[in-house]
Amino acid sequence: MNRYGIDIWGKQHFDIKDGKIVVNYRSKPAIIDIVKSVRKKDISGPILLRFPHLIQKQISFLYDTFSKVQKEFHYKGSFNAVFPLKVNQYPGFVKNLVKIGKPYNYGLEAGSKPELILAMSYNNIGSPITVNGFKDNEMIVLGFLAAKMGHNITLTIEGINELENIVENAKNFDGVVPNIGLRIRLHSSGIGIWAKSGGINSKFGLTSSELITAIEILKNNNLLPYFKMIHFHIGSQIEDIAPLKKALREAGNIFAELKKMGAKNLTSINLGGGLAVEYSQNEDSFHKNYSLEEYANDVVYLLQDIAKRKNVAEPDIFIESGRYIAASHAVLIAPVLELFSKEYSQKLLRLKEKNPPLVSELYELYKDINKKNALEFLHDSLDHMESLLTLFDLGYIDLEDRSNTEILVNLIIEKAIKLLADKNHKELLSIQDRVQEKYLLNFSLFQSLPDNWGLKQNFPVMPLSKLNETNKRSASLWDITCDSDGEISFDIKNPLFLHDVNLEEEDYFLAFFLVGAYQETMGMRHNLFAHPTEVSIDIDETSFALNNIKESKDILQILDEIGYDKNEVINILKEKIKLALNNKQEIEKTSSMIKIFLQDNGYLKTDIIQPDFFKEDK
Ligand SMILES: *Cc1c(COP(=O)(O)O)cnc(C)c1O
Repeated sequence: MNRYGIDIWGKQHFDIKDGKIVVNYRSKPAIIDIVKSVRKKDISGPILLRFPHLIQKQISFLYDTFSKVQKEFHYKGSFNAVFPLKVNQYPGFVKNLVKIGKPYNYGLEAGSKPELILAMSYNNIGSPITVNGFKDNEMIVLGFLAAKMGHNITLTIEGINELENIVENAKNFDGVVPNIGLRIRLHSSGIGIWAKSGGINSKFGLTSSELITAIEILKNNNLLPYFKMIHFHIGSQIEDIAPLKKALREAGNIFAELKKMGAKNLTSINLGGGLAVEYSQNEDSFHKNYSLEEYANDVVYLLQDIAKRKNVAEPDIFIESGRYIAASHAVLIAPVLELFSKEYSQKLLRLKEKNPPLVSELYELYKDINKKNALEFLHDSLDHMESLLTLFDLGYIDLEDRSNTEILVNLIIEKAIKLLADKNHKELLSIQDRVQEKYLLNFSLFQSLPDNWGLKQNFPVMPLSKLNETNKRSASLWDITCDSDGEISFDIKNPLFLHDVNLEEEDYFLAFFLVGAYQETMGMRHNLFAHPTEVSIDIDETSFALNNIKESKDILQILDEIGYDKNEVINILKEKIKLALNNKQEIEKTSSMIKIFLQDNGYLKTDIIQPDFFKEDK
């Protein structure tokens, strides 16, 4: 049975039972049953399922692991964490996160003014807020206001001018000053497609000489007591632990040196994010080379070692892992709309009294193919097809012959793959590469998996059901945008095999996993496809509940968001209908039909529209 690598990327969050994926928690519901109950509510198109218990699981695993390691090492500093909002700012996620994070004192990180406002609103008072990124005077004022509201906030300075802004504002806030952090620029940097945030040429952080200047400015303005934290972030999805260790040594020594320079209240090192997620579906290509335990061991051991050698107190540890916390909580469900080869069925053959000899031969191959000759017949048929297509281009055969060719070759491929199913040799793989089945999925790659489009990031994908049946169709996945980049092609190194399904008889859904980090806000409205319908799934010992259903935006809302005036659109449509039709009843009927579409989302529907659907205003 193909488990689609669920044991590699799934981390026991999910399992397979009776041929279906189940959520491996309490009553262990099958995801397909969850999807069916959502669709019963008249919801079609793609669905984003959120699992709050997976946010809980990741947060508690993070805290428990560090707490265990700190105990083992008798480490005296504390452990603290904040969630970087840029990874997922959606309310369906953030509201759950702050509720779950409360007992841990789990905080939020903000990198822009809107994110800071979110943090000031939703963060639990007392839990830390850290602020990174470039800040103008307004953003710094916001930081002071947050401190005034009682938030435990640290403004991390990216450049000397930000520090000068803090000095100026401190004069106006009667002794209320946020904690100050300094982002340090390290020599070491991460590796991988996201690692542009670290290193000596990185966009962010203070050089050694700027650090010394910063300490002087703080001293001269009596603000040194507010300097509490140094911060670094060497990039996202750090797949190799080595650069992190190097960065830790560098940061640990800078921490000790700054304390020696008089920064008495400097107590914390903030390691930023970067904890990697295992996206691989394939045992031969693991993405990361460490576990959370190893990461925690390295952090605690190295910081303790430096503190001992330099004779300073062991620092409080802060981390800002986003991807690691958020990725697993969301699963995107995309209904399969069509299998392209299904257009080629035997009943569509239009064989003539006298066919071109190669077509007749194709027909013989189709009739006579068996287990022994399957590979040979498959090769022959592909050869014949090449020849027949050339003959068509030269005008020697007609469209009916060409259609018969396409149908017969597809039928032969289907038979051959079934006959060869138990073989798994290289040649079969290369044939499957040539004869991919195209699965059309009701979703937009640009909206829901932008990192696949922009960075070629793979997300684990598998069908929700039929997992105890043979799956030998080499699959390429197409989205419904009118863009040829909206495709996940078959990759012979990382092959995806799906089932042969008859969509007239049964539904078939694919699920993309680990989509909870970065994908939602970065998703774009290419072709005006909106964020999919989202639902939170709360699971107990006996069943599951659908909560916080947010339907995908309707067509009018989407037009409104890109700057059209809804009423103007409606009025123009009405005017045009009036001009074209002169019968009052027809005008009303046509208008109300269009209105129904305006109030629905733009994803595709599979049902045939019934005439009575239009009778009344829905
Ligand atoms: C993006 C970012 C993070 C989060 O990184 P992950 O790889 O998602 O853990 C943390 N801190 C800072 C400063 C960031 O810019």
